[in-house]
Amino acid sequence: VTLVAVKPDGVQRRLVGQIIQRFETRGFKLVGLKMLQASEDLLAQHYASLNRKPFYPSLLRYMNSGPVVAMVWEGHNVVKSTRMLVGDTNPAEAKPGTIRGDFSIHISRNIIHASDSVEVAQAEIALWFRRSELMEWECCDHGSVYQL
Ligand code: UDP
Repeated sequence: VTLVAVKPDGVQRRLVGQIIQRFETRGFKLVGLKMLQASEDLLAQHYASLNRKPFYPSLLRYMNSGPVVAMVWEGHNVVKSTRMLVGDTNPAEAKPGTIRGDFSIHISRNIIHASDSVEVAQAEIALWFRRSELMEWECCDHGSVYQL
């Protein structure tokens, strides 16, 4: 499982539907979804590893500037595949066909977050979601997406 969040600029630009569609059509399973205004406390924990970076204050202001759509996606290799779907942190380096490469231009407004390792994903999901907000369900096409 991995955490994905459409950042405030992605919500403002009405890209939520297109972003969800990329994960759905790829074959991943949505197990958590909510819209929220992230608190400064949540964002400080989420970006704790960046708190000495020069862009940290503006990053927190940006992430706090409006609602975000947080989701949890499940599937084989989902953390790595999601990073590939999302594209490079800097949209100038992100390949066409990736979410950032198709929808964004500047690193300070790169529209989406995705966990960058399995360990980080576990910690981020625990930070953003309660257990009761995560659904356990069977995709009816499981056998067609994966080897039976
Ligand atoms: N960021 C920025 N300027 C930079 C580097 C990063 O504004 O020079 C922002 C950008 O929104 C990025 C976030 O900080 O998505 C977190 O950076 P990280 O290196 O963790 O990249 P990510 O995991 O989001 O690709």
